[in-house]
Amino acid sequence: MADPRGFLKIRERELPPNRPVEVRLRDWKDTHAHRAEGQAFLKEQAGRCMDCGVPFCHQGCPLGNLIPDWNDLVWRGQWADAIDRLHATNNFPEFTGRVCPAPCESSCVLSINQPAVTIKNVEVSIIDEAFARGLVTPHVPERLTGSTVAVVGSGPAGLAAAQQLTRAGHTVVVYERDDAVGGLLRYGIPDFKLEKLHIDRRLAQMEAEGTRFRAGTTIGKDMSWDALRRRFDAVVVATGATVPRDLPLPGRDLPGIHFAMDYLTPVNHAVRAGTPDVLPEGAPTAAGKHVVIIGGGDTGSDCLGTALRQGAASVTTLAIGKMPPTERPANQPWPTDPILFEVSTSHEEGGERTYLASTVEFLASSEPGAEGNVRALKVAETQYLPDGRRAATPGTEREIPADLVLVAMGFTGPETGVLEEQTGIEITERGLVARGDDYAASLPGVFVAGDAGRGQSLIVWAIAEGRAAAAAADTYLQGSTELPAPVRPRTLALRS
Ligand SMILES: Cc1cc2nc3c(=O)[nH]c(=O)nc-3n(C[C@H](O)[C@H](O)[C@H](O)COP(=O)(O)OP(=O)(O)OC[C@H]3O[C@@H](n4cnc5c(N)ncnc54)[C@H](O)[C@@H]3O)c2cc1C
Ligand code: SF4
Repeated sequence: MADPRGFLKIRERELPPNRPVEVRLRDWKDTHAHRAEGQAFLKEQAGRCMDCGVPFCHQGCPLGNLIPDWNDLVWRGQWADAIDRLHATNNFPEFTGRVCPAPCESSCVLSINQPAVTIKNVEVSIIDEAFARGLVTPHVPERLTGSTVAVVGSGPAGLAAAQQLTRAGHTVVVYERDDAVGGLLRYGIPDFKLEKLHIDRRLAQMEAEGTRFRAGTTIGKDMSWDALRRRFDAVVVATGATVPRDLPLPGRDLPGIHFAMDYLTPVNHAVRAGTPDVLPEGAPTAAGKHVVIIGGGDTGSDCLGTALRQGAASVTTLAIGKMPPTERPANQPWPTDPILFEVSTSHEEGGERTYLASTVEFLASSEPGAEGNVRALKVAETQYLPDGRRAATPGTEREIPADLVLVAMGFTGPETGVLEEQTGIEITERGLVARGDDYAASLPGVFVAGDAGRGQSLIVWAIAEGRAAAAAADTYLQGSTELPAPVRPRTLALRS
């Protein structure tokens, strides 16, 4: 165990500082300072892990990360062993250590009566230190099995599945329809949360291990799903859940109202090209505009940080529900992961947050020059009906000026049309690609991982499912597997 008296000596959490708001708003770089160098407190923080006997954090982390083990190794300064223990359960701690909401910390035993161990920061410090020390090297398989696997989609689920299957000796090709590999890590999540060098250096390791990448290839269009199945011994579908949830209200078609991803993706492309201000013709920008974001989740928060960097005149985020509590409520006791009021780095930077706001209509401008464009939202106060549903309260309507509206209300599921049409694969009632307990789809040799089978979720779940689907595909190909399978999928009813 780490320091046996650590949690008695150090009672507070300590994290590296964020860069000052006025500095970071002038660029698109990471808002945090992560490197372990100069972080004397890291050893102390790792030393607060108290070897509680039943580490609930193992359950709190969907990957089952061996958190007390690596806290101990960091406390001892044994970085090579620490990264080995971390990589034993997590292919990509550089992603989770940066953008995971850290449900592990909610279930930390110390958090019953003290602030939780800074697990996520210890995690990212281990992987950053490992890259800096040259400890992240390719694991080339000792022998090839002769089997081939196609992974469709290169988000965290596809990448985790591909790395596991390549290391098991299969010949793996990852197909991605975007021009670059990474899924939402690449063109969804902005650089100020996750700089893309973290993806690129991991891809370099994967390429050296033998994984092949084919960006710019849409399966179902450039190659049919059936042709893909004929060409490969197994297929992993990791295509994400990209269909946005809409708000079909009067005025929804007005110019100036966009889905969040239609706003974020071109900006992320422009940042990647090194010219953040040069957007493609017709791409929405927040520069100089009054922006309203509908939806208070991760996507809304990323829109906020992006709009502030573009120089929006104002940004208001609307949430239909109540403001969550700031402290764990009695009905969400330890070790559950409670829904709490969160202040992301983007919220620190500016903007207003409005709760209990039900949008009822989008209003058009009649101003010359902006004629026909959205000019405001009509919003009413949300009321909770006896059956638990939410509705707008009549008579409480007010207008919120907006010349750019971003709809960030989540995603309804994956794009399954072409896949279903070309293969007849089964789809669940919720529109997800159906799979059984072993991640197998309804077609032999086809497996489903990440948001495509689970619905929009988190990176940590995508990695966990990618690893588990890889184990299932390896069993299908080889009859047995030595690959770990951290999680079982949620099995959902099929569409009738
Ligand atoms: C704006 C935003 C911010 C987020 N922030 C966070 C966060 O801070 N923390 C967190 O944990 N989670 C966050 N999430 C959620 C997280 O990004 C996803 O849960 C995760 O990326 C899902 O991984 P995946 O591999 O299943 O799918 P994705 O990352 O969506 O990748 C799927 C890939 O498949 C490709 N594809 C689809 N169809 C085809 C086809 N036919 N042929 C070839 N390629 C195809 C797509 O282009 C895409 O690149 C965020 C999501 C969004 C939208
Ligand atoms: S992946 Fe997320 S839940 Fe797991 S240890 Fe890291 S921060 Fe915690």
